[in-house]
Amino acid sequence: MPDTNEIKDQFQLEMNAEQFRNDGHRLVDQIADFLESLPTKKVTTAKNPAEVNSMLEKFTLDDDGAAAGDLLDKASQLLFDHSLFNGHPRFWGYITSSAAPLGALADMLAASVNPNVGAYILSPVATMIERQAIQWIAEMIGYNTNCGGLFVSGGNMANFCGFVTGRQAITKSAGASAIPVNGLQLAYCARGTHTWIDKAADLFTGGPASVRWIDTQADGRMSCALLEQQIQKDLQNNDQPFLVVANAGSVGSGVVDELSVVAAICKKYGLWFHVDGAYGAPAALLPELQTMFEGLTLADSVALDPHKWLYSQLEAGCILVKESHHLRNTFSHNADYYNFNAQGVDEVVNFHEYGMQNSRGFRALKVWLMLQQAGKNGYKEMIRNDISLAGYLHTLATGNEQMEAISQNLSISVFRYTPAGEDVDEKYLNKLNETLLNTLQKSGDVFVSNAVINGKYCLRACFVNFRSRKSDVEFLINTVLKEGEKIHALLQSQR
Ligand SMILES: *Cc1c(COP(=O)(O)O)cnc(C)c1O
Repeated sequence: MPDTNEIKDQFQLEMNAEQFRNDGHRLVDQIADFLESLPTKKVTTAKNPAEVNSMLEKFTLDDDGAAAGDLLDKASQLLFDHSLFNGHPRFWGYITSSAAPLGALADMLAASVNPNVGAYILSPVATMIERQAIQWIAEMIGYNTNCGGLFVSGGNMANFCGFVTGRQAITKSAGASAIPVNGLQLAYCARGTHTWIDKAADLFTGGPASVRWIDTQADGRMSCALLEQQIQKDLQNNDQPFLVVANAGSVGSGVVDELSVVAAICKKYGLWFHVDGAYGAPAALLPELQTMFEGLTLADSVALDPHKWLYSQLEAGCILVKESHHLRNTFSHNADYYNFNAQGVDEVVNFHEYGMQNSRGFRALKVWLMLQQAGKNGYKEMIRNDISLAGYLHTLATGNEQMEAISQNLSISVFRYTPAGEDVDEKYLNKLNETLLNTLQKSGDVFVSNAVINGKYCLRACFVNFRSRKSDVEFLINTVLKEGEKIHALLQSQR
């Protein structure tokens, strides 16, 4: 039998070097044009699912294959013409950053080598790059650089890791079954904490009853007095508190809780202190915010999303745990078909023992590269710039009688449209602003999201975007005024 691959050319997944070079170069050229053209594009074309589906009709799963280059051309056209672009200078919705172009190239490099970063033996360089990236992130936020940690898909998974690790550390001894309790295992967090905690409670503890939502003060921070009262009450009731979540940049309005006070309460009652810094933790890099983030270093675990304020592509979240062995106690299981701890390989570098995943992709590469590209000072400037744009928006809204500036914390500005000099009630204002939000999101001119603060339906702009300028913020204000006026007139005419 001749030593050839029997698969016919047209069915091959393999590409020879020349094909790869041709198709790849063409794609890179198209991506470069796309990135350059971003500011002149609409933020989104806001197509509905039926419209998108109809565009997909020309893509088919045939018995016979198709040429890679043609497929790439068609796919890039489809995506460049019809996506929502969170890399657009006027995208400030939710908390999704403009991503560093270097990350796109890094992802291609990572995918080309395709290491399985679950075990050192399968990914020697990638594993150590991931460890180094985790140490750098810890260093940037002033956390213990000897901490354990790893990349996960995002904030939900990172917070789940902190939650489960805390529960394990407080309520179980390693490898043993849970210490029996009669009462509830309880986690505490501020009202307004991201909905990951609902999922975590459902998945890992007793459901909604195992979360104690603590009211916030007028400044939006969790009331530590109420927190302590609730813990005492639950202990008296023989329930089992195990974890307190503090926000370092809450999802709705960017509030940072009083981290050192929460840390002291956790210490006093023997609870795990978890910080949800998915969005805000990178701001701890700024010297001028040291007071705000005081106590972050005391956290037992911190969730932080590089795909938010470190400007990485999706997906990149990470969890840092002050003492690495807690992760291992929680997640380490081995099997006789694993030969991962051969001589010279310290088990500390087999990431499958430190998190929820087994096979793992090389998320770290892009983050590792972009941290080096911009350096600490580059990150300081970009983060500072985002905060100052949020401040600028807040100032413009404050100075405009058609607007109500609600809050600005870190790089999140919350505001709403309020027709001046008119007697309208809260219900009307909520309807007006909700309609306004939907109009803005569909327009493709700007993209903001919403927040409901004390019953007020508000617009919310979150700046995690190194492409935004002051002129974009001015454009946002003008667009809100123009559209707000139109919608107000329309709603009035329907009354
Ligand atoms: C975004 C966010 C999350 C969830 O992160 P994902 O990456 O979307 O899973 C959790 N907490 C906070 C504070 C967030 O901002």
